[in-house]
Amino acid sequence: MNLLHRPVRMHIASVGVSKFCFLFSLAFCGLLLLLLPTLQPPARQVDLPQPRPQIRPTQVGLVHHTRVPAVSVHAGETDLATGLNGSSAGQGGSTETEVTRNDKRGLDSKRSQENGVLSGGKIGGGLSGSKSHDPLELKDIFIAVKTTRKYHKSRLELLIQTWVSQAKEQTYMFTDGEDKELRMRTGANIINTNCSAAHTRQALCCKMSVEYDKFIESQKKWFCHVDDDNYVILPSLLRMLSSYHHSQDVYLGRPSLDHPIEAAERVKSDGSVSVKFWFATGGAGFCISRGLALKMSPWASLGNFISTAEKIRLPDDCTIGYIIEALLEVTLTHTPLFHSHLESLQKLPTDSVLEQVTLSYGGFENRRNVVSIVGAFSLAEDPTRFKTVHCLLYPDTDWCPKVKPRHKN
Ligand code: UDP
Ligand code: MN
Repeated sequence: MNLLHRPVRMHIASVGVSKFCFLFSLAFCGLLLLLLPTLQPPARQVDLPQPRPQIRPTQVGLVHHTRVPAVSVHAGETDLATGLNGSSAGQGGSTETEVTRNDKRGLDSKRSQENGVLSGGKIGGGLSGSKSHDPLELKDIFIAVKTTRKYHKSRLELLIQTWVSQAKEQTYMFTDGEDKELRMRTGANIINTNCSAAHTRQALCCKMSVEYDKFIESQKKWFCHVDDDNYVILPSLLRMLSSYHHSQDVYLGRPSLDHPIEAAERVKSDGSVSVKFWFATGGAGFCISRGLALKMSPWASLGNFISTAEKIRLPDDCTIGYIIEALLEVTLTHTPLFHSHLESLQKLPTDSVLEQVTLSYGGFENRRNVVSIVGAFSLAEDPTRFKTVHCLLYPDTDWCPKVKPRHKN
């Protein structure tokens, strides 16, 4: 064999082998391509867009008379519409759904542009798979207690000793006279409004006006107002507010009348027409979401509350109802969980007392108008029943008797 031919033959042979390899790989790739769809893992469910959950507040213990509560679905539509100089939307946070969490993100991201109006419709994308919750906490609620100098000893001390002690940081007592001693001794947040100590419309509206401004300043998510003869059952309050989002338009309370009040419209017109609206009685307490409170600002902030009340010539709680229902067209959500001494408190079933949001007692005319509850103190030891309620809620409190409950109201 001619050696010269060997490389040629070898070359021919190697070409044959590579050709075979090439064809073989081609066939193998083809086979792989055919098999590929069957080898792929099934698409995971979580990658698919999820349907948007519907936001409807669970109306815990709420009674609707002729109206339904106005609850906005899109946080962005409700919040910051009016904006308040330098004020901000709440600190965000959601209690119930992923959609509201998304709203929170929207709010947070816009917090720096507080006087802008947030656009709705940004909900939808980016929600799938999110499982985290941001539950409402007690620290998110601003609780305003209206009081007056002469009731510091007889009323306020009892509150400070009982429920206020469990919500010290976020409860503010709005009064009309200095009491450094009480402040020092109890460490309570006592605010001297410098409003008149009289029980007049002007004096009461002056206090409400300061309450409102302090709430806006606080950045908290909910504003709740109570009188100094109310016991606030904090776990129930938290449960009730957790059904809503603070950026919705929410006004919760109990009307003292079974019909809406009527007043001459002197804010939007000259008083020749009248408006009808519901209001939550201040003596039972009420709550307002931050979203709604911000919208109230043109008629409520920085002294405007006093002039609004003067125009319609109604007390503080009616003025709140007027601003919300008549001017902002947001309806009051009627709830029987708030209680004033205008109702017969004995009628509350004993086993439901601790589920209520607020309680009250007495009234001049009827000192025995108290809730019926069995607990650690007799009626003589605890005429308001607030200590008894407190020891049932917080049995570890140092002054609560450690023995089994004996006394029945
Ligand atoms: N109050 C006040 N100034 C007064 C009298 C009362 O700020 O001169 C407050 C009081 O501390 C309470 C609320 O107004 O928080 C209601 O007062 P009260 O319970 O005496 O009256 P009622 O419930 O019958 O309206
Ligand atoms: Mn009262």
